[in-house]
Amino acid sequence: MANLKDLFLDELADMYDAENRISKALPKMAKAATTPELKEALLKHQKETLGQIENLKKVFAAFDEKPKGKECKATVGLLEEGDEIVEENKGEPTLNAGIISACQKVEHYEIASYSCLIEWANLLENEEAASALEQILEEEKNASETLTELAADANDEANAEAEEDGDEEPKASKNGPRQNSPQTPSKRVK
Ligand code: FE
Ligand code: FE
Ligand code: ZN
Ligand code: FE
Repeated sequence: MANLKDLFLDELADMYDAENRISKALPKMAKAATTPELKEALLKHQKETLGQIENLKKVFAAFDEKPKGKECKATVGLLEEGDEIVEENKGEPTLNAGIISACQKVEHYEIASYSCLIEWANLLENEEAASALEQILEEEKNASETLTELAADANDEANAEAEEDGDEEPKASKNGPRQNSPQTPSKRVK
């Protein structure tokens, strides 16, 4: 890495690749989700993501560069985990909670990445790039907030079923009391 501008352009190419991958993954996640609210939120963010790709092209242009992608290994991995969560929770009450957690990891990765890029764009005194990146960061933060709101119901759904499963006897006693649990009554000692 020769200088901050090279580092900036390298990370910009990383995020350009990331957004392209995310735009393809979000419709799959929306299809897997089982509530209209979650489906809608994921599709809305997919549309925003297409706008972000256009916005990133403007950032390249602000540096007189052509848009270019460099494989974002982190996003490849996060999206692989998302696919795995969908596979493992299909038909289960935990599916929506799992999808939300996978999507939140992507949003937080994006928030960290854009926060760095904005800092660097400012240091490189490129206001046009910084403001385009600020707009993207705002959308990522809003997407994360929406997911947090939707997580309340999804987590209840995941948790309610666990309680129903344990209807016949209290959950803790399913496999016998835990030997060293502080909740285990110590009648014999007293
Ligand atoms: Fe994004
Ligand atoms: Fe990356
Ligand atoms: Zn990335
Ligand atoms: Fe996002």
